[in-house]
Amino acid sequence: MSTDKILLDHGSGGKASHSLISDLLVPEFENPILAQLNDSAVFDIEGKRLAFSTDTYVVDPIFFPGGNIGDLAVNGTVNDLAMCGATPLYLSVGLIIEEGFPTADLKRVLRAMKDAAKKADVLIVTGDTKVVPSGAADKIFINTSGVGFVPEGINISGHNARPGDKVIISGTIADHGITVLTQREGMTFESQIESDTAPLNHMVGKMIAASDQIHALRDPTRGGVGTSLNEIATQSNVGIKIYEESLPIRDEVVGICELLGFDPLYVGNEGKLLAFVGPDHAEKVLETIKAAEYGKDASIIGEVVTDSPGKVFMKTRIGGTRIVDMLTGEQIPRIC
Ligand code: MG
Repeated sequence: MSTDKILLDHGSGGKASHSLISDLLVPEFENPILAQLNDSAVFDIEGKRLAFSTDTYVVDPIFFPGGNIGDLAVNGTVNDLAMCGATPLYLSVGLIIEEGFPTADLKRVLRAMKDAAKKADVLIVTGDTKVVPSGAADKIFINTSGVGFVPEGINISGHNARPGDKVIISGTIADHGITVLTQREGMTFESQIESDTAPLNHMVGKMIAASDQIHALRDPTRGGVGTSLNEIATQSNVGIKIYEESLPIRDEVVGICELLGFDPLYVGNEGKLLAFVGPDHAEKVLETIKAAEYGKDASIIGEVVTDSPGKVFMKTRIGGTRIVDMLTGEQIPRIC
């Protein structure tokens, strides 16, 4: 850590977040399960494999087109469990509420959590509520943790991508981050863009049933697709090549990104996954994703290569090649 104070950048999900985690957190808590650094911890208890994950939500504003902080918090933890091939089962909910927060808003948030849990087929089984004085928190922060079981024979990890794998994205990129940003800035676009917040566990279940060659999964949340691809390239020690023209993205999102100077590769998603799949099964898995709810815009966006391990490259629309680094700098704070 090169700074003596924590900066917003340390929460970006990008390079600074990774150095905070690898320089301060991992050495402090060092153990082989944590060291995997996947979306969930996966471990054995009495011969059963379990996945366990946690995530905290501070999104601003708390209500936005397509969802609110409540369904976002449920879907986020459900998805982190699903990215390890786990079937999510039980969630906890921790609420930190600012004094003066309207009860009607709390009811709206809780109802969204209930509906999201139902949709994902998980139960919220324990929780905690704290209220802090006005100004000590901003409206409401939510932590969710979750446990699930990993079916026999499933070994999906960020460490398992291998040369030849095809890289699939399950739909359009950058919708969530751009939705939250435009709301927050009070931008009065005649916009149809909505957050993509959604549970992906049912999609993952179908993918696993269709193929035994799904090597790695990741939900490209904070830090976006660019950062998630870098994580996998580093964890698996492989190169990744993607094609700009294959990236599904809404025209409106492209327009807003250009207007505001954002690179959609680094804007967060909350209902998308990246899948690394053996080449012979890529088409089959792509079709499975496309047939699933939330997957109709899925596309193969690239492949895993042997050269330049740990690096991500993008063939641009105009035929050049650029390095896609991990997100540096806090592109959009408090998007989740
Ligand atoms: Mg994740």
